[in-house]
Amino acid sequence: MYPLVTTEMMSSSLEFTAVCFGPGLLPGGQRVTARITVPELLVSVVPERDESVAWPQLRVTSGGFDHQQMLLSWTRGEEQWSLMPVDAAARELLVAHAPPEMHAALAQWNKSVARTRRGFHFGWAALGALVASPLLLVLIFWWQSERVVGWVVDRISPQTEQELGKLIFAQVEASTPLIKDGPALDAIRDIGTRLTAGSKYSYHWYIAKDAQVNAFAMPGGYVVVNAGLIQAADTAEEVAGVLAHEVQHVERRHSLKGMVQNLGWSVAVNLALGQVGADAWAGMATQLGGLKFGRDYETEADVLGLAALTKAHIDAHGMLRFFEKLQQQDGTTITLLSTHPATADRLAALKKAVSEQGAGSIQPLPYDWAAIKLEVKGR
Ligand SMILES: [Zn+2]
Repeated sequence: MYPLVTTEMMSSSLEFTAVCFGPGLLPGGQRVTARITVPELLVSVVPERDESVAWPQLRVTSGGFDHQQMLLSWTRGEEQWSLMPVDAAARELLVAHAPPEMHAALAQWNKSVARTRRGFHFGWAALGALVASPLLLVLIFWWQSERVVGWVVDRISPQTEQELGKLIFAQVEASTPLIKDGPALDAIRDIGTRLTAGSKYSYHWYIAKDAQVNAFAMPGGYVVVNAGLIQAADTAEEVAGVLAHEVQHVERRHSLKGMVQNLGWSVAVNLALGQVGADAWAGMATQLGGLKFGRDYETEADVLGLAALTKAHIDAHGMLRFFEKLQQQDGTTITLLSTHPATADRLAALKKAVSEQGAGSIQPLPYDWAAIKLEVKGR
């Protein structure tokens, strides 16, 4: 059924870099090396793990920003896996060397992307006739897109947003083992409830059995804290600082804006009309943990997060201490810092704001944090 493996096929030139999404991987996807062989596509996920999938089991769809990306998906039992080649060179290698049974699916992908691209070019041509300078054109487009995202997001109702959050959370739940009860989760929920008093969203709190130091929030108020973050924190106040910050990404709709920006306009417009199509969001959950916010959003989440901590009588020094502590470690291994960069500016601003918090209003959080860490470790 399959052609023989040739010497050329064994050579390293048939490797390409991709982002892989699947159980046990970083929620935002993990950079991997994929190797084209016959009869399988081999994916090396960090040195100790290899995944392989037979070519006929792969589905080829387009995804990502403006649907120009190639997404190869497969399932193993209950598990959902997908792979996105990082650039055009990687896609071309795949198209050129995939076995014949993939040709129809890849040609179909190519056709649908070309169609999208043609539509895109037509728009640019029309605009280009009006504006002579290409640089000016880029600037106008960028400026408008920032504004247009805000405009569209303002028209998405909290109900639609919550429905969307539920849909995305279902994807997280399918791919990540979660802790849904016990003293650790009780503490997270308790702190979270204090930090979100009076919010228009109803929040849901979870702990993921994931050793990465990370936490992420979905639109509409689904918040996931990794077990690794709980292990890295010395006090409940440190975790409260992260929660206070994450909650503001929900309250200020940063997560929603980020996703709308990543998915393109057709999806955004449907959302504004109150239509939540499950298909459009497939695979989005996997990108969420790696969603990187801009400097303005980070500052906003810090400032409002600190205000929420003060209002809840929680010591904000925990927030500062935790970010400082993480930054002193090897920053490249900490997901939380790559998605919420703790720059020198940011830490200085935090320090100033924390020093302004009145010490008299603080009540220590009442949890046995060592016992909570032990509980999470054992599960
Ligand atoms: Zn942030």
